[in-house]
Formats: sequence, C-alpha cells, structure tokens
Amino acid sequence: MRHCLPLFLFLGLSIFAAEAQEHRYAIAIHGGAGSAPSNFSNEANIKRAASMKAALETGTNILKDGGTSLDAVEAVVRLLEDDAQFNAGRGAVFNAAGGHELDASIMDGRTLACGAVAGVTTTKNPITLARLVMTDTRHVLLSGPGADKFAEEKKVPLVTQDYFHTLAARKAWQDSRAKLSKGTVGCVALDSHGNLAAATSTGGLSNKKFGRVGDSPIVGAGTYADNTTCAVSCTGTGEEYIRRAIAYDMAAQMRYASTPIDKAANEILTQRLKKNTGGIIAVDKDGKITMQFNTGGMARAAADSKGRFEVIWGEEK
Ligand code: ASP
Repeated sequence: MRHCLPLFLFLGLSIFAAEAQEHRYAIAIHGGAGSAPSNFSNEANIKRAASMKAALETGTNILKDGGTSLDAVEAVVRLLEDDAQFNAGRGAVFNAAGGHELDASIMDGRTLACGAVAGVTTTKNPITLARLVMTDTRHVLLSGPGADKFAEEKKVPLVTQDYFHTLAARKAWQDSRAKLSKGTVGCVALDSHGNLAAATSTGGLSNKKFGRVGDSPIVGAGTYADNTTCAVSCTGTGEEYIRRAIAYDMAAQMRYASTPIDKAANEILTQRLKKNTGGIIAVDKDGKITMQFNTGGMARAAADSKGRFEVIWGEEK
C-alpha cells in the first residue's frame, strides 16, 4: 500500500492538471485603433467602456461554460455590431457616396476554415454572414450585392441603409480631420478545447471611396487564426495591413522564428507599420494575450481563466 501512495498522488495531480488544462481559456477584444478617449466626451467614454465590459462578459461566459472560441468571437462581435457606438454593423461609418458598406471576417484556427464578406449594404450582422460563408459555401469571401443576396437566402436579418445612419457616423463623415475610423471591432479567443478563433467587423474608413475594401474581410491581413500559433484581429489603416499581410505576419513570426506573441506585435507596430497606423490584438495557443497599437489609443479588453478581467480605456501603450 505504501508503494501505491506515490502512484495515487501522481494520478491525483494528473487529473487536477488535466482539469485545469480543460478549463483554460483566454479572450481579447478591441474597439478600434482610432478610439483614444480624447476623441470622445466623458459620458461617451463611460458608455463605450460599459459596452466593452458587456461584450467581454458575453465572450468570457461562453468560454467558461466550455463553449467554442468561434461562438465566443462571433457573439462578442455581434453584440458590438448592434451597438451604434462602434464602427461596425449599426454604427458603420459613411462612405464618400453617403452610404454604408460593411466588411467582416471570421477564422477557425482548428481547421483554417474562414469566411468573409465585403461591401455588404443590407446585412444587419456581417460577422454572422461571414460565418455562414465559412460553413455553408465552398468559398472564403463574398462581396457586394452577391453577399447581400446570400444573406437573404440564409434568412439572416436584413435592414435598409437608414439603419446605419447614426449621428456619430454622420459627424465623423463631416469631420474632415477624421482619419482613422473610431471603433472597428475585433475579438480573438482560445477555448478550453485548445482551439483558437478570430473575428473582425467594420464599416471601414470614414469617407472611403465607394467600393473600397479594407483589411478587415481579408484573411491574413485583418484576421487570422491557426491553432499552431495564434489568433489575430487588426484595426487601423487597412491598406497598410493588406500590403504587409499583417495578421499572417504575426503567425509567421511565431511559426518560423518562434517569436513570442508580444514581441511579434511590437516588431510590426514599431518596425513595419508607420506611427499612427493602427493596432493588433492576438492570443497564442497557450493563452497569452497581446494588445498593442501605435496610434493615440485603442479601446481594448481581456479576460482569461487565471482570473484576469479588464477593460482598458487609457491612451497609454
Ligand atoms: N481596418 C479598417 C479598415 O481599413 C478600419 C479600422 O480598423 O479602423 O477598413
């Protein structure tokens, strides 16, 4: 019996370790790299922070209950799409023609399955449509009227363009100084099954040319997820992110040079992208989160199974 004790102890510890492993999760959210608190009134900052917190709670609860990272990132982004304070879904900015064209993408790090929509005009929740492109078609990216038609076929909620005509978006449009849009949204997560996922949704850049597509619906530029490395969601001047395949660059640095996630994001934001270009959130396969930017501010939030739960609304890096 005495000899069995170490074995029992070992088994007990292994079961404990397996349980801890099973419930490990991590999640990060961004609310756009143009979202320095100084861009908003105090009241608006408080409201936006409350929305970020609610989104973080939603995602965290899904992961805590053993849900998938894909469900978590979709639910978080959907919630922020329905919130007029963010430049995604309801709060999408105006393009130069006075309309709204929305972009979104989602990626499953387990299988590299991904789906995206670009330039949709009547789809209430572009992130959900992106997920349907991933699961219900053999394609990765649908655009414009074809994507909206697919939404109709799939019976996802449709809206008219007035749904997106919010005062804040109109103000941003009229404000010729507006460079970065205030509030593209994105979410990355690791679930307790060890799977990574990423999602990004935006109305694009305020006053963008009709038909312009940014990085958010481009897998490898604005969004990427691969279980062997990390899940990434970007925000900022999309053209710069497309040119440099930024989201994939994060994964490539980790895969080919074993660069830690923090260092990979820092390298991109200090060496590869000019100041004031944007930000990156990412989580790696071990649950390590990074949230960095080279603009005046990026609303962000993070939580994990070790007890972290925070919404950061400061301008500091
Ligand atoms: N990356 C988005 C775009 O270029 C905008 C943003 O993140 O603010 O469409």
